[in-house]
Amino acid sequence: MSASRLIRAAILPDYDQPIEVTTVTLDAPQHGEVLVRLVAAGVCHSDGHVVTGHLPLPTPIVLGHEGAGVVEEVGIGVTHLRPGDRVMVSWIPACGHCWWCVNGQPELCEQANTSAVTGERPDGSTRLHWHGAPLYPFSSAGTWAEAAVVPATSVVPIPDQLPYAEAALLGCAVQTGVGAALRSPLRPGDTVAVIGCGGVGLNIIQGSRIRGASTILAVDPSAENRELALIMGAHHAINPSQEDALTAILDLTADRGVDVAFEAVGQPELIALAFAAARRGGTAIAVGVPTPNATVSVNAFAFASQEKTLTGSWFGGSYAPRDVPRLIALWERQQLQLTSLIRRQYPLDAAGEALYQLLHHPAGRNLITFPSSPIPPDISEKGA
Ligand SMILES: [Zn+2]
Ligand SMILES: [Zn+2]
Repeated sequence: MSASRLIRAAILPDYDQPIEVTTVTLDAPQHGEVLVRLVAAGVCHSDGHVVTGHLPLPTPIVLGHEGAGVVEEVGIGVTHLRPGDRVMVSWIPACGHCWWCVNGQPELCEQANTSAVTGERPDGSTRLHWHGAPLYPFSSAGTWAEAAVVPATSVVPIPDQLPYAEAALLGCAVQTGVGAALRSPLRPGDTVAVIGCGGVGLNIIQGSRIRGASTILAVDPSAENRELALIMGAHHAINPSQEDALTAILDLTADRGVDVAFEAVGQPELIALAFAAARRGGTAIAVGVPTPNATVSVNAFAFASQEKTLTGSWFGGSYAPRDVPRLIALWERQQLQLTSLIRRQYPLDAAGEALYQLLHHPAGRNLITFPSSPIPPDISEKGA
């Protein structure tokens, strides 16, 4: 087995501290693990939630939980990947044998979700070190780094024609958003509201379009996100800074409300808005990640008298080895847009700026890219 190596990574030393781009130690892949040299990594709102401490993951932490790159080394027991493979990297490496994995909900995998909270392997070790102490990757990924050692189930091969930048988005935003829509009770012809149109919300819109929704209403205060929402397939874009979102949704649905309302921000009052926006007998789905102690208040009478359902969706119910090939097939048939989701690209040294943009001017999906990688990035192909 090869030795550990020094890599550059963007780390958050502690909550509310500036990002530090520095040299850290990355262990060689162990049994069932893969070392991926990153070419592109996504900037997700969940990364911002770690910085503010709203998502209290252990620090110091290497942020980033979606990416794409090239396999450089595989650990013992990995038979479906080999060095040189082009791959995407995801963030819930389902173990395949816990109760939830066996019973068809791999997104709730006990081992993967525990590792996300502890930042450790199941045996308690860490893959990264800084100043001789443990350094934790965001949800067994940590893609804001030149390379990452990840469980092989987080890694899915991608075809040559899929550029790394687009492939990176499959790791979190696309699986979460499209999966939430495809696994919802949404039926062809239904009406949909999507509250919050960032990386995940835009993909809920895409999933709803793919599923055959007749009317998709997008709600977001950002003009850039509303414009993107229309490109992704929304029929109306509502600016909640200028008009009451619930009134607008009712006006556009003959005062009934929508069949399915999605919340993609993680704010309790917006989850309550989704519940209110669902028609009698309709469904509201919380997809955004709230802070751990947040509680949501909804009208209890509506549960019984209006037969409403309020439910959650974690990671879109996705399992990367199963769902990423399906999403790539949709992209190949031009049913799934990836390139138009991408806004800005930052070098690793500008990771702090990428976070600032995320927190203050969120729009579409931004990326960290690695032009210094010895493997030539092919993001110039992104018009493909
Ligand atoms: Zn994410
Ligand atoms: Zn499991």
